[in-house]
Amino acid sequence: METTLSFGNYPKQSNQNLIKYFWYNDLQNIGEIKGDILPYGLGKSYGDSCLIDGGTLLDISGINKFINYDEETGILTCYAGATLADCIDFLLPRGRFLPVTPGTKYVTLGGAIANDVHGKNHHKAGTFGCHVTELELLRSDGTLLQCSKTINSELFAATIGGLGLTGIITKVSFQTVECPGPIIESESIKFRTFEEFFDITQNSENYNYTVAWVDTSVPGRGLYNRGNFAPKSRQKPYKSTNGKMLPFPLNMELINPLTVKAFNTLYYNKQLSRIKKADVSFEPFFYPLDAVDGWNKAYGKKGFVQYQFVIPFDNYINVLKEIFNLITRSKLSSFLTVLKTFGNIKSPGMMSFPREGVTLAIDFKMIGDALLKILDESDNIVNSVGGVVYPCKDARMSPENFKAFYPQWTDFAKYIDPKFSSSFWKRVTKE
Ligand SMILES: Cc1cc2nc3c(=O)[nH]c(=O)nc-3n(C[C@H](O)[C@H](O)[C@H](O)COP(=O)(O)OP(=O)(O)OC[C@H]3O[C@@H](n4cnc5c(N)ncnc54)[C@H](O)[C@@H]3O)c2cc1C
Repeated sequence: METTLSFGNYPKQSNQNLIKYFWYNDLQNIGEIKGDILPYGLGKSYGDSCLIDGGTLLDISGINKFINYDEETGILTCYAGATLADCIDFLLPRGRFLPVTPGTKYVTLGGAIANDVHGKNHHKAGTFGCHVTELELLRSDGTLLQCSKTINSELFAATIGGLGLTGIITKVSFQTVECPGPIIESESIKFRTFEEFFDITQNSENYNYTVAWVDTSVPGRGLYNRGNFAPKSRQKPYKSTNGKMLPFPLNMELINPLTVKAFNTLYYNKQLSRIKKADVSFEPFFYPLDAVDGWNKAYGKKGFVQYQFVIPFDNYINVLKEIFNLITRSKLSSFLTVLKTFGNIKSPGMMSFPREGVTLAIDFKMIGDALLKILDESDNIVNSVGGVVYPCKDARMSPENFKAFYPQWTDFAKYIDPKFSSSFWKRVTKE
């Protein structure tokens, strides 16, 4: 019996088998595996959506070859175990890039689609699923289905953001975008209040990529980062860093309220001027956390949760203040807090999380019931204003809140493969 954990190391699950696949043809027999099954990529989901207690994870990250690249259209076709890092290595030297990328490049294409991931350009490009032109889905009865907006379109919509429950995504075709090179012209702006964040956001229409870091020790203040790929004249040759990460040096718990406060204060004050402009490589800009492998160990043995929600723009500043008050009153502290806006580009995914509004992602060390209670209270606030919580980061939301956030779940359930399930799905659909 092998133990496989998700990125947050919470919840713990050891009652799980894992089968690692390297050959596409071997997947044909998945119907013969006893019990529940679930596809698995690189386990970069924080909670239990990539786990199946009592069942078998099918790790397809070894089925990762490239299949075709159409130079005229810029459409890349790969097996779904290929990572975004692999795709970047192929695309950047050809003057192309990913249409959308999350905050780590070490995720598989299958995982990126199953969670319909978003990036810093949601307001310009929507989710990753918006750029998938076709995918191949293997069901547990051995049926292989081609799915797109026009072929098996309902299953296509259910699979994008479908949490791995509709079958194994085996092959993926997606639209890549033009890119002059690896350098981003970036700007970092200090803000002192949520109102200032709002003003900067309003004036960031010309920036393709935007995101803000918030200091939880003084809620409301933070650093707003925005940027575009720099013009050709300021570009440099691309040197791949794929797989080159520094190992996390210590196997010890580093995160506690004191270190968090110190980090937040230092990080906010590291920039002396209000605005700092610089040409930087796309890697620290998009993937600052990829530099160190295993940094999640700093949260200690009990792990951590990342809590991410999106709320509509109406009155969002007051709602954010209410949630931050709740967190501050409870003396919880967060090492990493990210605030950004989503635009109105609708994802084709039936269960996709992103929608127009403001999204906040906060990391909390797992301290047990006190944290779970506060997050339940926060869920109720998010729910009351028409927002939703992100399943791919979740490890604890109640069935009542899940069903209120995603009332379409009963329609979606019709597309779930009968052999597929996950710990997340069992938890949130419990009667
Ligand atoms: C540092 C960091 C930053 C992140 N930043 C962002 C961000 O900015 N935006 C964002 O949206 N997310 C972000 N994430 C979350 C991450 O992008 C998603 O969890 C992603 O889905 C992980 O992909 P994975 O390959 O590791 O898949 P896993 O975590 O292993 O699995 C994720 C889901 O995909 C399913 N799955 C995997 N492979 C397949 C397949 N072939 N067919 C069908 N289903 C499959 C699994 O069953 C599971 O439900 C971040 C995560 C980390 C650790």
